[in-house]
Amino acid sequence: MPNVTPTLDSSFAPAAQAISKLRATIDNAARSFGRDPASVTLIAASKTVTAEGIEPAIVAGHFVFGENRVQEAEGKWPDLCARHPQVELHLIGPLQTNKIRAALALFDVIHSVDRPSLAEGLAREAARLGKKPRLFVQVNIGAEPQKAGIDLSAVDVFVDRCRNGLGLDVIGLMCIPPVDVDPVPHFRTLARLARQHGLPNLSMGMSADFVDAIACGATHVRVGSAIFGARPTTLTSG
Ligand SMILES: *Cc1c(COP(=O)(O)O)cnc(C)c1O
Repeated sequence: MPNVTPTLDSSFAPAAQAISKLRATIDNAARSFGRDPASVTLIAASKTVTAEGIEPAIVAGHFVFGENRVQEAEGKWPDLCARHPQVELHLIGPLQTNKIRAALALFDVIHSVDRPSLAEGLAREAARLGKKPRLFVQVNIGAEPQKAGIDLSAVDVFVDRCRNGLGLDVIGLMCIPPVDVDPVPHFRTLARLARQHGLPNLSMGMSADFVDAIACGATHVRVGSAIFGARPTTLTSG
């Protein structure tokens, strides 16, 4: 790989170009479904991408990124955030209880609140740090045993406990539908649940299905490979 200093004009960087194309697709999709394009946030899922791969997209004007591992994010984002204070970081992957403090230090929004012990830990650490992180409750929408998320039947009790019991700022629901099935029924179910709870945000839709998700009301789409290219296969899970 040639050893070149990143140039400040990043408009020709592949990731920056992909983001601007994707943004146009998102805007058109939103309009075609009678929605305001500004109501859909594009989270660029940058897991496995290096700081050098990410920075051109920031320089080109994209500021919202998602990571799915706290430890990986700690390795690249503190410097990037120091250089680009406009960045908003979203944790979209699982959060271990022993990483809560580190996650709250780095992330503005957490999409993976998926169990009571995590909600309690977040409430405790957020109070200590004087922070009020924005949170999504992750729902195990396909009732898959191997997948994280609150069971559909437990969402009512859990959301109530988070908001009213623990005073957490739950802003919406998040899901990752099962692979190889039509995601639309799952997106609709998540949208209905959010409506029932008066939650304004829906984190759903990835590279393969973000248009369907927008049709169903997604406010936050998490798109990785359509921006940064395919990830190394051993690192894509989790
Ligand atoms: C990696 C990841 C994405 C993005 O997936 P792509 O298919 O690459 O767009 C979205 N959500 C979560 C939770 C992820 O871990």
